[in-house]
Amino acid sequence: MQEKLSLMIPGPTPVPESVLKALGQHPIGHRSGEFQDIVRRTTAQLQWLHQTEGDVLTITGSGTAAMEAGIINTLSRGDKVLCGENGKFGERWVKVAKAYGINVEVLKTEWGQPLNPEEFRKVLEGDKKKEIKAVIITHSETSTGVLNDLQTISKYVRAHGQAITIADCVTSLGACDVPMDNWGIDVIASGSQKGYMMPPGLGFVAMSNRAWEAQQKSDLPKFYLDLSQYKKAASKNSNPFTPAVNLYFSLEAALNMMQAEGLTSIFKRHHRHRAATQAGMKAIGLPIFSAEGHGSPAITAVAPKTIDAEQLRKEVKDKFDILLAGGQDHLKGKVFRIGHLGFVNDRDVLTAVSAIEATLQSLGLDNGQIGQGLKAASEILTAR
Ligand SMILES: *Cc1c(COP(=O)(O)O)cnc(C)c1O
Repeated sequence: MQEKLSLMIPGPTPVPESVLKALGQHPIGHRSGEFQDIVRRTTAQLQWLHQTEGDVLTITGSGTAAMEAGIINTLSRGDKVLCGENGKFGERWVKVAKAYGINVEVLKTEWGQPLNPEEFRKVLEGDKKKEIKAVIITHSETSTGVLNDLQTISKYVRAHGQAITIADCVTSLGACDVPMDNWGIDVIASGSQKGYMMPPGLGFVAMSNRAWEAQQKSDLPKFYLDLSQYKKAASKNSNPFTPAVNLYFSLEAALNMMQAEGLTSIFKRHHRHRAATQAGMKAIGLPIFSAEGHGSPAITAVAPKTIDAEQLRKEVKDKFDILLAGGQDHLKGKVFRIGHLGFVNDRDVLTAVSAIEATLQSLGLDNGQIGQGLKAASEILTAR
């Protein structure tokens, strides 16, 4: 049914009414005092979300632009970096780094498994000449539903003394605790269509002091994504180029909602939704793709054994207007993914679990467990 589509994908995520309405206002001049006030307020809110006193810069672009900005502003041609790869996004950062002539050593783990922090420790400790300039990792690997141990890996990077940590927190920011300053992360990239509960279009790059030091030495080509220009403009609550003015309206509306809910409550909600989704799927015999105990709070990847995941996904969409995400690359048809990121409540989770059950039933795949998913999920959601 038209306009009834429920987005249970890891981006774009559902957008609240107040955030949509904010978007529909007339644009204002981006050099006006009124707009500068919005930049000032949203910058402080973004620092709150990142738990940092450092800079958080807003650019027009998707999450990939934010990550690319983080990489090209802190590194130089021929620099050696360590890149964690256990999914599609890890792979992407290897490609970006290579595109700029960076010397990438890849630390791989099988998709579905978390990156092994001990491997990072060993390589970093073995780097006596301090040649490694950065460690690039994806916190929540959206393609597999795995949460990597960013805290431990960034601790090892700090112990190395020279390298910086560049983290893709696109589906962890606003879903689980990412205390940037406390964990000593140097660059965090994120995008508006994920935990921010916004439409796509804005990217965010948070930079530590160490990241700015690296920025001064960086010789990679950049112009639109030259973050020093954004920093200079930000000191005057402004932007170097015409920003997506209307998206700023919705950014403020979304961050207001997040602040009203509070970080702790937001994280708790995502953790409950992860637990309920996982329990619901297991109860109907659908295995979770990510390794036990390493699931992402934003997304659950499910690997059904007896049915093509794409068929199930299509049926859920056609029958219930619920959009689930498919598997990427070699996981296509093997996994489907349930997004529970951003503007998602208990009802959404119960509905998604029930719709999957009803779909299995309609496909004649009732193995006697239909109904158990809802029971398991609601037990978690109603627990006191
Ligand atoms: C969505 C996503 C991105 C950003 O992708 P864009 O399409 O460029 O916004 C980056 N990393 C992860 C882990 C993501 O889920």
